[in-house]
Amino acid sequence: MNLNEVDILITPQEIRAKVQTLGQEITREYSGKDLLLLGIFKIAFIFLADLVRAIDIPVQIDFMDISSYGPSTVSSGEVRIIKDLDASIKGKNVLLVEDIVDTGLTLKYITAILHKREPESIKICCMLDKPSRRIADIKPDFCGYAVEDRFIVGYGLDYRENYREYPAICELKPCVYQGRNDKEQPPDKS
Ligand code: 5GP
Repeated sequence: MNLNEVDILITPQEIRAKVQTLGQEITREYSGKDLLLLGIFKIAFIFLADLVRAIDIPVQIDFMDISSYGPSTVSSGEVRIIKDLDASIKGKNVLLVEDIVDTGLTLKYITAILHKREPESIKICCMLDKPSRRIADIKPDFCGYAVEDRFIVGYGLDYRENYREYPAICELKPCVYQGRNDKEQPPDKS
């Protein structure tokens, strides 16, 4: 990790412990039920891979790929589905796994699409939540940490496709993006 560019907020050890706790909560909640973990590419791939091994009941896994921030940094929530789920979710207990919930607009949009497919239930599990930025009426059912309004990278989260592989959850130092003359600055931070 390049500590000139990021500040560590949550260490890999803390992440491991938190994922175990979340896994236990989810195991209790869905004990005796069928559970489908639904990951959103690419962001949730690391969290979901860890989480699934911390859950102690049989699970199915499926992925959706959507366009997230893209070239514009202000989330409208109106995401484009690039890859849809492989199988029907009708009658299933769906747990949406997200790294971070910010305005909540993306999840509101996705859950509205999924509800039309008649699942038994839809819940949300996120590693990070930025409640101060919330616009949509979305409340994670399982959440690792609430964080302040900072631009986070690492543990699957990127800035311009970099930093995803960092094992810690980090704040990107403003010096990395300030002064950039492009559209890919973190929202409200320029
Ligand atoms: P929302 O629709 O909740 O505003 O946006 C959720 C998405 O915005 C996340 O899945 C993620 O792609 C992106 N996002 C929000 N906050 C951050 C952040 O602090 N760092 C990174 N890398 N992406 C973020």
